[in-house]
Amino acid sequence: MDEQAEAGQLRWRLVEQEESGMLFSESSLGERHVGTGEYRGMTFFHVNARTIVNKVPAASKMPFEYTINAYRGCSHACTYCFARPTHTYLGLGVGEDFERKVVVKVNAVEKVRAELRSPKWQGDHIAMGTNTDPYQKAEGKYHLTQGIVRELAEAGNSFSILTKSTLVLRDLALLAEAASRTRVSLALSIGTLDREVWRLTEPGTPPPDKRLEAVARLNEAGVRCGVLIAPVLPGLSDSDEQLRAVTKACLDAGAISVTPVALHLRPGVREHYLRWLSEARPDLVALHSERFGHGSYQSKAEQHRISEVVRSVGRPARHPSSWRESIGYEASPTTDAEVACKDSATEIKRLGSRQIQIMKTRPSTEQLRLL
Ligand code: SF4
Repeated sequence: MDEQAEAGQLRWRLVEQEESGMLFSESSLGERHVGTGEYRGMTFFHVNARTIVNKVPAASKMPFEYTINAYRGCSHACTYCFARPTHTYLGLGVGEDFERKVVVKVNAVEKVRAELRSPKWQGDHIAMGTNTDPYQKAEGKYHLTQGIVRELAEAGNSFSILTKSTLVLRDLALLAEAASRTRVSLALSIGTLDREVWRLTEPGTPPPDKRLEAVARLNEAGVRCGVLIAPVLPGLSDSDEQLRAVTKACLDAGAISVTPVALHLRPGVREHYLRWLSEARPDLVALHSERFGHGSYQSKAEQHRISEVVRSVGRPARHPSSWRESIGYEASPTTDAEVACKDSATEIKRLGSRQIQIMKTRPSTEQLRLL
């Protein structure tokens, strides 16, 4: 298995394993709140989490050790979502349940405050958006991500966020303030510019052009933001022309890194995605059989092709030094920027986030040597 496939699989394991000690059975799902108005059709289960900062299992080899996920389930309803199977741990389904029944850890902010102040906390980097989207629709109602960002900023604790939502712009001033105090990096996930494919595959998300605007506004405000072209979907968004177009648009928007992630289909989501595909695009079923066979990943050659097309468009022109060291949650290290991610994360672990604040955005000579 190549590095990209391995990293994708590791991320999958992370989603399966994180919070394994704090899952809820269906009977213990908390108070049920039926959504009204703009939340009509949704149900929110209020739960009190025992802990909120989760340690990533050492075996996952992710470039961060700690995560926070305030929500489970995601109204963005992406057909390919790798987190869908985690809803079964709650006694809920991977289909509509995942999209409409969202578990809300209502005490997330107070828990973060307490855990960051604990003498045991060493100030490590924290990644958000590793399971479900921290700026999904529920965040408009509960403001948990906003509260968590405020706590992290006040504690000077470095963090990263992965999202598909322009709701992140609601917190622009807060994120900019946090970025002036500690190390903050964001990534917008933008898989395609094709509006038809977007509507078909990510029906609950803001349109791609709005996400590009968010990338531009975040970087203009001093919040470093890259893009994951994720996932690249066979037959839907993987032509050379489509990949070049989305990469160019991301670079034009000022993205500090652009990373493609080929679709992978692990058991659980594989069945869901292929069932959806056979109804929505039966003409693509044969292509998927050819690309995936009985496995979860596409061939090395296909993954390489995708990376090469993205690379061929160019590198970010803005902040050429800072994009090299962006910290994140990239699922498929295929570029030197991502090698740098891992390296920076190691450095953060070694120094602790408080010292990283002093280090600011310049990578060390040692880090650059490794690029
Ligand atoms: S935004 Fe992310 S977490 Fe939410 S449904 Fe889409 S892929 Fe899943």
